[in-house]
This record gives sequence, structure tokens and C-alpha cells, in this order.
Amino acid sequence: MTERTSITPTHRYRNNDKAVGVGNAFWDMSERNGLAGIVAELQDGVLHTPEGHEFVNFTCCSYLDLDSHPKVIDGAVDALRRFGVLDHCIPRSRVQIPALLELEASLGELFGAEVVSAISAGVASAGLLPLIASGHLGNGTRPLMVFDKYAHVSMAGAKPACADETEVVTCGHHDVGFLEDMCKRYQRVAYVVDGADSLGGYAPVQELAELQEKYGLLVYYDDSHSVSAYGERGVGYIRSHCPIRDERTITVATLNKAFGTSGAAILLDGYAKPAQRVIERFAGALSYSQPMNTAAVGASLASAEIHRTDELTALQGRLRAHIELFDSLIKTEQTGTTYPIRVVPMSDETVIEAGRQVYEAGFYVSPVFFPIVPRGTAGLRVMLRAGQTEEQIRALGAVLVEVGALPEEAAP
Ligand SMILES: *Cc1c(COP(=O)(O)O)cnc(C)c1O
Repeated sequence: MTERTSITPTHRYRNNDKAVGVGNAFWDMSERNGLAGIVAELQDGVLHTPEGHEFVNFTCCSYLDLDSHPKVIDGAVDALRRFGVLDHCIPRSRVQIPALLELEASLGELFGAEVVSAISAGVASAGLLPLIASGHLGNGTRPLMVFDKYAHVSMAGAKPACADETEVVTCGHHDVGFLEDMCKRYQRVAYVVDGADSLGGYAPVQELAELQEKYGLLVYYDDSHSVSAYGERGVGYIRSHCPIRDERTITVATLNKAFGTSGAAILLDGYAKPAQRVIERFAGALSYSQPMNTAAVGASLASAEIHRTDELTALQGRLRAHIELFDSLIKTEQTGTTYPIRVVPMSDETVIEAGRQVYEAGFYVSPVFFPIVPRGTAGLRVMLRAGQTEEQIRALGAVLVEVGALPEEAAP
């Protein structure tokens, strides 16, 4: 028998040997130390494990605690009763119950955009980015796709599919100079970036808007991390600051973080109905997989209603106060920003043990360390929420100092 061929992958845009090889060791170590694989029930904001341990979660992205709001829960139940079906299983482009249309009208009013819903932001990006790459979403010109180096994995994961449609490159974080160079060289450029990124920064929307005006740059923002937590009526960072409201700006946002429900919103301006049809028919899983189900729609309608009231402003205020309280206790690189995530620096050697002690004291914070983050940037990731109490935040601060965090000098 002749020798059978072995395959050498190109790994131009992804590499599972590296991802699994590097990442699995991190997860195994976290799990061995009891800081991953935790199962616990939620009661009145406190998690309870079957072994009897109680802790407050300080690594949950439901920044306004709307996911357990009584009106959001009732909204889900009411919609199930009103529409009488969880998910009428057939592509919506053929037949749909009016649930999604009702939700999209409500979210459209809230965000001041044309809204197409999706079951998740990950699914939305996986479907939309290849359509942008081929020019079918945009102005018809096939763009050079420039992915920001730190674009969330839900977007970066679409690189291979985009690369089959056009040229794909990765640029430095917020490298506007590089983008301008590309805009001078290519007929069209599309830039893929987070609106608010997990490092605590926001996209340079004004500088990007200049490139949008000057060269017709298309910007694809994922604003999942700031919607609801930021801006009037929780419209998020991009809808608050981006002046370009036409075909050149596309924004997606999950409804699963501060919005407190499930699903995602694709925010469009200046895209006529036919473009929205192309999305429904060709944006990957949006065309053939399940849409948001009726419970998620009902919960989202209720959350959107809360966004229209002073209650949202009050919740945002509580979140901001909690962030400021934490900053007054512990020094981090993010101190002073409006973003709800803090990384409390620790060494690669001590971070797991520190995380374990904090957990034993009744708080979950997630350790991040090499190889998941570069050497020298390990730390305990802390997320503030409106629903935490001042007492809990102060107690966490005290424990963090005990395990080696740097107290803020002015700390009381
Ligand atoms: C959390 C997150 C997502 C995932 O959202 P899903 O709706 O759960 O897919 C996508 N993008 C960013 C930037 C996120 O932070």
C-alpha cells in the first residue's frame, strides 16, 4: 500500500493546537484549585454550593442585575402565554409569529436604529462579517477586512470565513494610523472592533468617524460590553458617541450582559429593507438556526421598558457608585474608568492561591494568568454590579488587600 498523505494545516487565521494546548492547561489548573467547574444555586444574590459554601459572584456580566428583575421574569412568562408557543420552528424568512417583529420595533425605538435580532452576538458576528467581507452588506465594494488585534473572539473567529471572500489582516489595538494607510491603498476598508473592550477602554469613535467621512471606512462595532450600562436609556458607548449614522456603521450588542436577558441586537442605519432581507436570508445561522425564543423576546421587551424609565438611570448610578467605591479601596490600572471590570494585579505564581483564599472568604473573582494573558499581567478579575451591596464590596476589598492587592492610598 502506498503511504497515505498526512495534512499540514496553514493556520493562517486559527490554530487549535495552540488554543487547546495553551488554554486547557489553564482551565485544568483553575479547576484543580476549585476556581472553575463550580456548581451553585442562586438565592437572593448569593450563590450556594451543595457542599454548603456561600459566595457572592464578582465575575458576572449582568452589571445591572436585570436578569433577575421581577418584571423581566414576568415578561418572559407573559410572552409565552400571549404567543402560546416557545419557538415556531421554521426560518423567519418563510413564516414567523409576530414576536421578533414586536421586539425589533421596541429595540429600534430604544436605540434609534433599525434592529435585526439574533440569538446571540456570537451568531450575529459569525453571520454578518462574511457578508461584509463579500460586499453584500455595505456599499457593494469588497473591502479589505481589518480586525483589531483585540477584537473579541466572537468576531476574530470569523476570520477564516471572511478570508474566503476577501483579504483579511489584523492590526494593532486601535491603530488608526494603519487604518488610514489602508484606506489610502484600498477602495474600501472595513474595521472590526469592540465598542468597549475587556481591557477597560473604548473604541476611538471620533478618529474612526473622520476616516469614515474621508474614505468611506465601514466600522463594525461590537458594543456588547457597554449596552445598558452606559449612556442615556442604556444605548451604549457607540450609540452615544458615534456621529456616523448610515451604511458605514454597523453595531452588534448582546442582550445577555447588562441588558439582562438573552439574544442580541444588530443595529443598522440607512440599510433599506432589501439589505435586512439579505441578513435574514444569508447571515449564516440567522438564516437556518433558531431565533430568539418567545421567553427571551418577552424578557427583552420588559427589559426595554425598564430602559425607558428612571429605574435604569438609578441602576446605572448604583453601578457607577459601586465602581467608585471599589476604586477607593483597591488600586488597579482601570481605576477611574466607567467600565465595570477591574483586574487586581497578582504574580503568575500567587494568583491561583489568592483566588482560592478570596473564594473561601465568600467571593468569586476569576484568576487570569499566563498563558491566557501575557506574563506579568496576571490578576484577579473583578466585576462590579448594581446588585452588590456596599458591605459586600468593602468586605471583598479587605480580603483582596489580605491576599496581596495594593490598597488605594486614600482608602478609609
Ligand atoms: C460577551 C460578549 C459576546 C458574546 O455575546 P453572546 O450574545 O453571548 O454571543 C460577544 N462580544 C463581546 C464583545 C462580548 O463581550
